[in-house]
Amino acid sequence: MPRAVNAGQVSWRWQCFGPFAKEVDDMAVQQHKVSKTRKRLRRTHFKLEAPGLVQCPQCGEYKLSHHVCRNCGYYKDRVVVQAR
Ligand SMILES: [Zn+2]
Repeated sequence: MPRAVNAGQVSWRWQCFGPFAKEVDDMAVQQHKVSKTRKRLRRTHFKLEAPGLVQCPQCGEYKLSHHVCRNCGYYKDRVVVQAR
């Protein structure tokens, strides 16, 4: 089945939303190729991020900020959990 009867002679907008739109077969096909630049610009956000590590003021061990220290069990100058 042809994608559109007058492909090439009518605008893509007409092919997509006009009366020929139903003649398109079921498979999904992208309308425009994503260029190298657009792909790379999108992927600039796909990066690993280091967790927010801070040094425990009690024992100096690195811990996640706003979390109880795994080493000494302290949180904000007091014991919250028993350290193992
Ligand atoms: Zn600690």
